[in-house]
Amino acid sequence: MEKTQSMSFVKEVSQVPGGEGVNLCMQCGTCTASCPSAKIWEYTPSEVIALVRADMRDVVLSSSSMWCCLSCYSCTVRCPRDVQPTSLFHALESLAVKHGYKPQNTSMPVMYNSFVKSIKKNGRVSEFQMMMGYYLSTNPFSALGMISVAWNLLSHGRLPLSARKIKGKKDLDLILKKLDDVRGDQ
Ligand code: SF4
Ligand code: SF4
Repeated sequence: MEKTQSMSFVKEVSQVPGGEGVNLCMQCGTCTASCPSAKIWEYTPSEVIALVRADMRDVVLSSSSMWCCLSCYSCTVRCPRDVQPTSLFHALESLAVKHGYKPQNTSMPVMYNSFVKSIKKNGRVSEFQMMMGYYLSTNPFSALGMISVAWNLLSHGRLPLSARKIKGKKDLDLILKKLDDVRGDQ
């Protein structure tokens, strides 16, 4: 997807919460060496940062790489320049969604969306609702392979079919609305 932007990509990233440290990276590769999921990244963590620094907006935002981040924070605690790579990768996910990129080879954006919908509805995650939303938006037939797992969880009372709303749901709604206003998602 081609995007034309007046601002350079690296500057845009540096202005997104979480992306402030992008210019501090010295390409030591510690983040990649520390990352338990780096093998499945389209571009490794340090490569992603190098691509941002090279202003490769479309390459980065259409990539599935940052969606492979597990938020384990190994890179963040080991980065010698305090780049905060974990936050940076989540900032890139946020930018990809904001600019309408739909990365191939990953359904993580759909999973995140289903997670957020569940939070907005109940104030807490309903695993059943979240996974139903995910499978209905991706491949409903793939849910068949999870039936035995779901049955085991159900029979042990670990997978409630409905979710009770949290106390203070109205307060949470106000917080989420404020967040949407700030991020311009409305
Ligand atoms: S560990 Fe930090 S400084 Fe090193 S490549 Fe990763 S982000 Fe850059
Ligand atoms: S936080 Fe993400 S990028 Fe960093 S080491 Fe963990 S999985 Fe890899």
